[in-house]
Amino acid sequence: MKARYHLMRCKSALSKSGLPGLDYALNPYRGCEHGCLYCYSPAILRDAELVERWGQDVWLKENVAEVLRAEVRRKRPGVVGVSTVCDPYQPIEKEVELTRRCLEVLRDSGFGVCIQTKSDLVLRDRDLIRGEKFEVGVTVTTLDADVVSKIEPRAPDPDARVQVLKEFKERNVETWLFLGPIIPGVNDSPEQIEEVLREAKSSGSYVMYDKLNVKTGVLERLERVFGAEEVAKIKKILQTPEWWRSVKKEIERKSKVLGLKCESAF
Ligand code: SF4
Repeated sequence: MKARYHLMRCKSALSKSGLPGLDYALNPYRGCEHGCLYCYSPAILRDAELVERWGQDVWLKENVAEVLRAEVRRKRPGVVGVSTVCDPYQPIEKEVELTRRCLEVLRDSGFGVCIQTKSDLVLRDRDLIRGEKFEVGVTVTTLDADVVSKIEPRAPDPDARVQVLKEFKERNVETWLFLGPIIPGVNDSPEQIEEVLREAKSSGSYVMYDKLNVKTGVLERLERVFGAEEVAKIKKILQTPEWWRSVKKEIERKSKVLGLKCESAF
């Protein structure tokens, strides 16, 4: 099922970011067609309808590149996260190139760029994304195809995401892999974790990881796929500090064995 697309105009392109390592956030899209069950972006956007219909509506900020061009002339240079709320490589990006046009502006500016996506469409822009000015990161929750089809129904598959890291690494772009969110009983087994860490290692990327963040709408979306009973169990385990302590320990132990740089995301 394709999302419904809507056009909108924005007054600003860069907003201040509170995320580690980022000075600014740039989100050319509002809403995300990938529709991951665990996504807490709709809660951040504070839009009840978006929470309910997450994955089904995407707004395109049609003037974002022009607004950005004016802002980079007058704002203090810093690192821009592309994107921090909604994936910058929506399927419609192939046609409308909002993110690409923003990257062109940033490439010619004094700003650094940290791209985060789940889509291999980012490879289209490999001609722009070069050198130390850029970093590229992808999220991989698990390589288990059955789990991926349930929790990330419309995102490109994890192998394609790992390929993104490999290709950018070859072009001397710093790369990282976000392992998460880790959900009890879904993608927290030592085998699942090890598989992802091995892919990070093979792509020369460093690793950040985090557990499920239960913001408004997340549990309800998980319930639609896993059922109320299963989600009640997930919720209970998340409240158990021992669970996360042992998962963290496993990630850090395995990373050490593999010689991987790894850190907790928040
Ligand atoms: S790709 Fe990212 S922004 Fe989009 S639904 Fe998934 S977690 Fe949310």
